[in-house]
This record gives sequence, structure tokens and C-alpha cells, in this order.
Amino acid sequence: MIKKILIANRGEIACRVIKTAKEMGIATVAVYSEADINALHVKQADEAIFIGPAPSKDSYLRGDFILQKAKELKVDAIHPGYGFLSENAAFARACDQNGIIFIGPTIEAIEAMGSKSAAKQIMQDAGVPLVPGYHGDDQNPTLIKQSSNDMGYPVLLKATAGGGGKGMRQVWSEQEFDDALAAAKREAMSSFNDDKMLVEKYLTEPRHVEIQVFCDNHSNGVYLFERDCSIQRRHQKVIEEAPAPNMSDDLRRQMGEAALKAAFAINYSGAGTVEFLLNPDGSFYFMEMNTRLQVEHPVTEMITGEDLVEWQIRVANNEILPKQQDQLKMRGHSFEARVYAEDPNNDFLPATGTLHLLKTPVTGANVRVDTGVVQGDEVSIYYDPMIAKLIVWDEDRAKALSKLETCLQHYAIGGVVTNIDYLRRIASSTPFKEAKLTTDFIERHSDSISTKSEVDANTYLPHIALAHVLFEAKLNANSTDHPWDIKDAYRSNLTHCENIEFNINEQAFALSIAKTSTTEWILDIGEHNVGLDAEQKPTLSGSIENDILHCTVDGIKTQYPVMLVDNQISLFTPHGILSAKVEQPDFGEMGEDDHINAVVAPMNGTVVALLVKVGDAVKKGQQVIIVEAMKMEHSIKAPYDGVVAECFFNTSDLVSGGVALIDITAAESV
Ligand code: ADP
Repeated sequence: MIKKILIANRGEIACRVIKTAKEMGIATVAVYSEADINALHVKQADEAIFIGPAPSKDSYLRGDFILQKAKELKVDAIHPGYGFLSENAAFARACDQNGIIFIGPTIEAIEAMGSKSAAKQIMQDAGVPLVPGYHGDDQNPTLIKQSSNDMGYPVLLKATAGGGGKGMRQVWSEQEFDDALAAAKREAMSSFNDDKMLVEKYLTEPRHVEIQVFCDNHSNGVYLFERDCSIQRRHQKVIEEAPAPNMSDDLRRQMGEAALKAAFAINYSGAGTVEFLLNPDGSFYFMEMNTRLQVEHPVTEMITGEDLVEWQIRVANNEILPKQQDQLKMRGHSFEARVYAEDPNNDFLPATGTLHLLKTPVTGANVRVDTGVVQGDEVSIYYDPMIAKLIVWDEDRAKALSKLETCLQHYAIGGVVTNIDYLRRIASSTPFKEAKLTTDFIERHSDSISTKSEVDANTYLPHIALAHVLFEAKLNANSTDHPWDIKDAYRSNLTHCENIEFNINEQAFALSIAKTSTTEWILDIGEHNVGLDAEQKPTLSGSIENDILHCTVDGIKTQYPVMLVDNQISLFTPHGILSAKVEQPDFGEMGEDDHINAVVAPMNGTVVALLVKVGDAVKKGQQVIIVEAMKMEHSIKAPYDGVVAECFFNTSDLVSGGVALIDITAAESV
């Protein structure tokens, strides 16, 4: 009987497991690295143990040390979550040898599915349909190229040890093949320490449909229907949903049964996901099986009403499955959107920093936010940049989608750039509403979804102005009452009037705001602000409480999250974030030594390729250097035409975020 569980993970999934364990009356132990000393999962667990420095290889991946601690603390079972040790057969074996239950499938099943190529072989033998391709042991590049040529392009190279879309490359012609293979192998080596490759026919319009399976140790197995995860960027899931739209009952049953066949082929036990590619004609192919709980498991929980972590724990306890196939029913529709700290306007570069402001939509039975962070936490460079998962449910797809859109509008994160607005653009796009789902959805519709929505500055100018005076009043309240410290433009016997200049989206707005009573201001928009009605002089009043601006403009009340960081006011409107820089006096021209011509590292990482040398002429947008950070390659481009004046680093050098990598003298000053 499991009475105490150690969760060998962090972030939202650690919190997710702790929640169910608590509901089941099971004691919990969290583990944490130096970077996570104050993390939410540590606070939520009954006990927490320190396991080492921030990099995962020195903490969350130290299976032996975690196991030793688990023994000392007398835990009965270890839940690995996803990622880290979840699909590590050696760790599962060590748990077993030390009398601790590994909450996951058998060691044999993990091993069997650990390699994409070995898994394909097993599935082929079991009669599960496969995408045509080559998944043999002979890794001779000529052989792999030949099978690609025979199959016909496009093909997809995959690292057999791969996951998370890493070590994967589409190849569209024979000419591209060699470079693509080299790049995929390089990425696979750095991510998995294994550069073995397989190649598959690249299907051009498939959907990614996966089946949630569950088996116990008593030969029972069920499928908990499907999830459609076709909305992907660089082969990584962005928005998932259940059930898959336009799926007939017959196809659902066929795919469910094929998935169970796959599970039974490896004597599966616990939660597993069998991923398929589904073609428009209804043909489907096995892609891989993930032997763990998936990130997107909540959408299945929402439509079935089952708690999959509870099922995992029961199976690990050797109980029989809580339900049989005919007892499982689907209800309504659910979406999950992955909220990431990344910049959609800068090639989705992972972002780091302090979550100065964090407001989630109101949660309840039908709106769930699975997260591992709270306001004030840091998003560090060390781990996956996922901040949260927003999960919604409603009676049908249209209603659930409308709920997703509204919830994304009410999700405000400040201090770290996120993909929230990008998610909202996908959710509100016509093809998504029409469920025209294919794995190339994002590429196909990139024009409409990549266009950053511009929030109309004019609409929110009064709010920004009010936020400014309220923030100023707050700052003044915190300073002394010495006359020189008073900054509220007070003039005796005059109406207090302040001239302010905001810079919004590179446009200057000069306004004046007059305080007419202790609680009211009148805003004078001025004549020189194009597009605004100068005659309009709105009356403003309001307050800022708990980072929310309560604002009344000419009697109309609204409330939006608001934040002031480094002289910049950010207003979180339903249409996106509006940021206004409060202009400061100009302190003169930049000195000659200022490094305005430098190409800088986006974040801590390693130089994997230096593509230019001193003296080279470069064109704006040309790739100049490739830095690998967070296991992804980021190609950095020249910001303008010019000549390379200096290269500060070489291949294999470690670089810190923000440092100058290459100095380019702009063309006009050459
Ligand atoms: P990973 O384990 O790295 O996530 P997968 O094998 O699960 O890689 O594939 C990830 C995604 O890549 C799939 O969801 C699908 O969109 C795409 N993909 C994989 N194989 C193919 C293929 N043969 N043809 C087209 N797309 C594919």
C-alpha cells in the first residue's frame, strides 16, 4: 500500500501529482535544486529535500541520489512526472532493486519504447500500421540517404533516442540531405548523447492524434479516447484538444484498439500514450509510444471526468483499473494551451526573468490552470520555459473554444515575455475555429497568426495616464515629505497640472493631466497627437489595488492588470499588452564606445557554429553565428548590412546571455 510518494520532478507536474496524492491521503516528498528553493512544489509537499545545483544533470537527473534520499525518507513509491527520469529504464530498475515502486510501466516496456526504431520494429511485428521508412541498425549515411531517395522526398529524419522535436529535420530534396543529416545528428548528440537516426516518409497533411491507454498488472487495458495535438510549432505541441474534431466513432474504436494492441505487445502497465499520424483519408500510422503521463493529459481528464494520476497510483498499488472500457464515457470538449516564456516576435527565443505580474483567469471546475509558479518567481534558464497549462472544458467545441479565447484574454503575465497573445491569435483564427487541423497548421497560417496584434493606443491612453499618476502618487507616498521630494507637480493656489510624454510602439504621445480634486483628474490630450480628438477632455478617477487598475473614464468603469517596471507602464488589455514608456529627460548622445554594433547572445549557451570572419561583408538578416541554448539551436542574424569588425568567440565557447558576440560596422559608416 503506497503511503508516501516522492515526486522526482519540479514545476507544474510536481504540483499536479502532489494535488492528487493529497486527495488520496498519501504523504508527499518534493525534491528541489538550488534554483527551486522557494518553488511552489516545494511549499506544497509535506517534506522537501535538496538535491543539488540548478542544472538538471546535477539535480533532477541524479537518479542515484534521489533514490538514496527516497530510502532515507522511507517513501513507498516515486512518481517521475514527465521528462527527467520518467523514461529512464535504469532508474526504474534501480527503484525496483531498492524496493521502491516506480510509478510507471515495467522496465521492459520503457526499454522497448525508449528507442523510436526498436519501437517501430515491435509494432511492425505486432501488426500496428507504420509510416514507411528505414529504422535499421546500420547507420551508414549512404544507406539512409539511399532509402530516402527510394522513398522519394520529402522525408523526415528523426533521432531514435529523440523527444520534444529535437534531432528532427525535414528534408525536401536529395541535395539537402547531407546537411540535414549532419545537423540532426549534431542536435541529437547534444540532447541525447546518441546520434542514431531513422528516416520516415514525411506526410504532408497529417493530423497528430494520440490515444491515451491505461493497463493494470492483471491483464486489463482500456483506452481513454484520443487527443488531437496537431497544433505544433517545430514539432512541439502548442494547443491540444479532446476529443479530436470530426472523428467518427468507428475510427475512434479502430485507433483505440490499435493503441491497445501496441500496449499489449509490450505487456504494458500504467499510463501510456500511443501517438499516431492520421491522414485525411482515415489511414493512420504508429509514430511512437510515450511510457509516461503526457503534458496534455488534462484534456482527457476533462472529457472523461477521471483523474489519471489517481489511476497511475492505483495501478502502481497493484489494484485493477478503476473502470472498464464500456464504463468510460466522453463528455463535451476540452482544450489545453501551453503558456511559455518565449518571444513569438523573436523566433520564439526562450525568455527568462522575474514574473513581476501574474494574473490567471478565474479557475473552477471547467477552467484549470496547472502551474508551478506564482507571482514574483523567476523563470530561469535551467529548465523548460513552460509557465503553465490553461485547460478549459465546455459542452461542445465551439463553446470550449470561446472559453479558451476569453481565458487567454484574462491571462496577464508581466516581467517575462510570453506566448499568450500568440495562443490567442491561434485560438481566434478562422481555420482553427473550423477545425482545419493538420500538423503544418501553424506554418500554413503563419501570415495571419504571426501578425502581432497592435493594441490601439488611443483607446487606452486615459488608462495609461491615470496609471501613471497613481503610480507616481504611490512612489511619493513612500518617500519623505521634504519639499524637494514632492514630485506631483504641486503648485500652491493652482490646479495641479503635469505634462507627460509616453512612448507607445515607437510613437510619442504628449499629454497633460490636471488634478481637479483629491480623487479626480482631467486629461488633456493636446492637439498634436494625431488621431485623437483634442476637444475630448475625459475625467478620470480610480485606484490600483493588487496590481489591478480600476479606472473610470467619463463614468465608464473598467479594470485591467497593470504593472510599472523600469519606467514602463504595461496595461494588460483584452486585446493584448500595451506598454508605455514614461519619457525621461534626455541625458545626451551615446558615446563612441557604446556597443551599438554588437550582435549579442540571446541567453546563456554555447557557440556551435561561427559563420563569418573578420572582414566579411554581411547583409541584414544573414545568419552569422549559431548558439545552442536550452538544447535548441538559435541562429543569430546580422541586424543590418555591414562588415564584421571583430568576432569575440569561437566554436564551442560558452557565452552568457547579453554578451557581444560579433561586432559589425554598419555599411554607411564603413
Ligand atoms: P518527438 O518524440 O520528438 O516529439 P515524434 O516522433 O513524436 O517526435 O513527432 C513529433 C511530431 O512530428 C509529430 O507530432 C508530427 O507532427 C511530426 N511528425 C513525426 N513523424 C512525421 C512524419 N513521418 N510525417 C510528418 N510529420 C511527422
